[in-house]
Amino acid sequence: PPLYKQRYQFIKDLVGKYKPKKVADLGCADCTLLWMLKFCNCIEVLAGLDICASVMKEKMHRLSPLPGDYLQPAERSLTVTLHHGSVAHKDPCMLGFDLVTCIELIEHLEQSELKKFPEVVFGFMAPSIVVISTPNSEFNPLLPGVTLFRHPDHKFEWNRAQFQSWALEAARRYDYSVEFTGVGHPLTGMEKVGFCTQIGVFVRKYPQTTESAQSEKPTEAVYKMVFKAVY
Ligand code: SAM
Repeated sequence: PPLYKQRYQFIKDLVGKYKPKKVADLGCADCTLLWMLKFCNCIEVLAGLDICASVMKEKMHRLSPLPGDYLQPAERSLTVTLHHGSVAHKDPCMLGFDLVTCIELIEHLEQSELKKFPEVVFGFMAPSIVVISTPNSEFNPLLPGVTLFRHPDHKFEWNRAQFQSWALEAARRYDYSVEFTGVGHPLTGMEKVGFCTQIGVFVRKYPQTTESAQSEKPTEAVYKMVFKAVY
């Protein structure tokens, strides 16, 4: 399967393993991952965030309930919301989540945004689990036609040592453990370059309730809600 599908499948498998009730996808783009996750029965709250409102709106109708969703007796409640804003800013709508995913997001951040990102995601949102994926630059020589970066909007692409030192520092500072994996295996004989997409799975070491998280952090709302559906 194409690489993006492998990344989404990785998240679906993680959802199957940890059964989070509330999942937020940061840099959700056209909401494909959110759309896939709405079929996971453990999830009761799904939220998406992107700095680009137009890409988020392109296919967001897919997140609306179908007539059949109203005819069947609801086994679970599901609320889906989309928010326009930046991961460089804190907003209380992102508190209380169990899982936060950041798929191919960080390499699109400007230096100043990337600097704020750990405090916003690990310090403020502080979900039980954070997943971050980003290209592994060591794989690039195996990709046809890639000279500097895989995409012109990438601000950087890191090798494994660079990503892991950044991730370990964030984990240490905000009291998470982190494990590294990836998707996209190199061909036989090329294994030493690692995965095409590198992934860090961060697990919070300390317990935290939704209530304590929200009462301790009075923060002004800055994101704009652009979509809401209640099943
Ligand atoms: N996560 C999706 C996926 O895996 O298919 C899309 C990844 S796309 C390569 C990166 C997305 O991050 C874009 O939709 C872009 O608008 C968004 N983005 C860039 N900077 C952002 C920021 N500061 N805050 C939130 N989203 C941002």
